[in-house]
Amino acid sequence: MSQRRASHHNRCPNCRINHYFCVCDDLKSIKVSTNVSLIVHVSELKLTSNTAQFVEKLIPSEARIFIRGRVNDHFSPDPIIERSGRPLFLFPDENSIELNDSFKTNFPGPYHLIVPDGNWNQAKQVKKREAKFDTIQSVKLPPNLIAEYKLRKAPRPDWVSTFEATAYALGILEAKNVEDHMLAFFRKWVSSTLSARSGDFSSVIKKENL
Ligand SMILES: [Zn+2]
Repeated sequence: MSQRRASHHNRCPNCRINHYFCVCDDLKSIKVSTNVSLIVHVSELKLTSNTAQFVEKLIPSEARIFIRGRVNDHFSPDPIIERSGRPLFLFPDENSIELNDSFKTNFPGPYHLIVPDGNWNQAKQVKKREAKFDTIQSVKLPPNLIAEYKLRKAPRPDWVSTFEATAYALGILEAKNVEDHMLAFFRKWVSSTLSARSGDFSSVIKKENL
């Protein structure tokens, strides 16, 4: 068996981290009043570093993943458009409005947050390609959010992962405790993934010897 297969074999099937670092006990779901639609490319979904899957796991009632890029399967925006709530497309294009308290006053909820996953260009193309997304208001996060996501190289210093972007947006649209709850899990997941990648089991071994 190859090294890769061997390490895959040791992964938790749910969080996909090595069993020693499994974070499933920290996956505590919460209820929100915002519907969240994550648009994820099929090739991204296979990656263990993809963060959209954890939004769905933490907010199982309201968050849904919609897969694009499947062979022989045309992506339709209709199931997304049909979801209830004021639709907001989370992407900082030229027409986007900043999410903040005055936004909530001007555009009251409940909301339907549509989040394109992937890198900058992929996310931009998702909106450009679908005419039905064209009329949906784009929204952006306030500036100066610091990305904690260290598993991939960020194209820009202010770039945040899909998970963090969703957490920050819900922190504004819903309540700060939703953001805190989500980011607490995220920090645990990042540190556990980094430990598993480095092969440093010393913290786990210490724990077992207590
Ligand atoms: Zn797990």
